[in-house]
Amino acid sequence: ESDSSVFVADEAAMVGFGQQLAQAISGGEVIFLNGDLGMGKTTLSRGVLQGFGHQGSVKSPTYTLVEPYELEALTVFHFDLYRLGDPEELEYLGIRDYFTDQSICLIEWPERGEGILPVADLLLTINVEQRGRRITWQAQTEKGRQLADKLKS
Ligand code: ADP
Ligand code: MG
Repeated sequence: ESDSSVFVADEAAMVGFGQQLAQAISGGEVIFLNGDLGMGKTTLSRGVLQGFGHQGSVKSPTYTLVEPYELEALTVFHFDLYRLGDPEELEYLGIRDYFTDQSICLIEWPERGEGILPVADLLLTINVEQRGRRITWQAQTEKGRQLADKLKS
């Protein structure tokens, strides 16, 4: 299956893409955010959260690993696994409870949780392009394909 991608020129456009993504989400999605430090994963997450009505700040939960946002329509769990030593530590966080139809999971540094995290519905990768970024995404499940289809239109 082919990847889709879009160029995002600046931070505001990154937030805008996140808001678009929120509109395409139906609930229960697991989304992996790949890309190096400083690529804009948290910025994109802020856009998704704003798309669901969150108005406060959004910071990478680098030390707590996960930050829950209980919003009107659903709960968003925002993960940053950069400092996760061992994927098994996720078991102690009780993460299985986080992956439900009433919640969505946005996961920065998902490779650190390999083996414990479920398969992502959507894999999203951010790279530098010129002075902005290119976001590339790929569906891995039927739910992810539905999401990707909505993103295109
Ligand atoms: P990450 O979570 O991937 O480490 P952040 O979301 O914290 O990255 O963003 C790092 C920096 O990148 C911020 O200063 C942000 O303003 C900037 N940034 C985000 N998106 C873009 C973009 N599309 N073009 C240029 N800079 C961006
Ligand atoms: Mg971050």
